[in-house]
Amino acid sequence: MFGQLVTRLLPLVPKGIVRRVAMRYVAGEDLDAAAQAVRNLNGRGYLATMDILGEDADSDAHADQTVQGYGAVLARIAADGLDSNISVKLTHLGIRLDPDRAGERIRALVGDAKERGNFVRIDMEDSSLTQATLDVFRALRESHGNVGTVLQAYLRRTEQDARELAAAGANLRLCKGIYREPADIAFQKPEEVRQAYLRTASVLLDGTTNYTAFATHDRTLIAALEDMVTHRAIPRDRFEFQALLGVPVEDLLDDLVARGFRVRWYVPFGREWYAYSTRRLKENPKMATYIVRQMFSPRNQSAS
Ligand SMILES: Cc1cc2nc3c(=O)[nH]c(=O)nc-3n(C[C@H](O)[C@H](O)[C@H](O)COP(=O)(O)OP(=O)(O)OC[C@H]3O[C@@H](n4cnc5c(N)ncnc54)[C@H](O)[C@@H]3O)c2cc1C
Repeated sequence: MFGQLVTRLLPLVPKGIVRRVAMRYVAGEDLDAAAQAVRNLNGRGYLATMDILGEDADSDAHADQTVQGYGAVLARIAADGLDSNISVKLTHLGIRLDPDRAGERIRALVGDAKERGNFVRIDMEDSSLTQATLDVFRALRESHGNVGTVLQAYLRRTEQDARELAAAGANLRLCKGIYREPADIAFQKPEEVRQAYLRTASVLLDGTTNYTAFATHDRTLIAALEDMVTHRAIPRDRFEFQALLGVPVEDLLDDLVARGFRVRWYVPFGREWYAYSTRRLKENPKMATYIVRQMFSPRNQSAS
């Protein structure tokens, strides 16, 4: 209750305070910091996917800058020998401004990644973009193999999408879904979403040439997924687990890595950290307590 109240008041909390708490979810503001974070994760047996924070480019120049930024990330991954791919949002490439130009930008990025032997994951955004994202993904898959996208278990359409895409051998991340969606298109209750996740996972694991990334921090779900892959004897190179940097599941993921599973952290970085981290903070009401503590800490009072 207290946590929910603070969460609603988050926009009123001074940015400096949110920053201090939120930085656990972000590798840093620049590529050097992100590369260092990935190097550390790789050293512990993890894979990574690097994300430049930001969405909804508000101009062509902004969207072009996103492409350049990701070009630098791909070059850095290659130069430093990092075990990482990249995750990209189509709104960050300007799909809401001009879908054709955004299509050219993602094509250029996937082409660049292909030349470097790397891979691009297209993140899934809200339901106004589900079909457009899948269309872009399908078109790119025909010309380039090194691209994947994301399915959100909470969407009622997802099981069917999974069936079609699994049959086509797609590389898909499966997550619960983060955006607020209406009941006619999305399951609302946590247990319904969890069951939908498991049904979709089952569909994806029925495929024979596709690859699945199970993105969740839900320990019950992870245990059920591990049972599912073990029971069906799915080869370890046909799936992986994924988590967001900063979410406290290392104990579980370290154990998965120790037992030979592939595990990848989503590593966001960049100056546009505010929207991303407040989303993460809203998912975790316990963090609200830390924010209040920071607001009333002597260090903060003297700084303000
Ligand atoms: C690698 C990755 C990529 C993703 N990509 C997308 C995407 O492209 N599109 C999209 O819509 N969504 C994406 N998501 C977000 C996803 O849809 C969920 O909103 C998010 O993962 C929370 O759901 P959960 O499965 O972890 O289950 P939940 O039931 O929300 O959480 C399970 C447990 O983890 C804890 N937890 C969850 N989040 C936090 C947090 N921020 N801090 C501390 N504890 C936390 C909860 O307290 C709970 O105990 C992604 C998630 C991951 C892990």
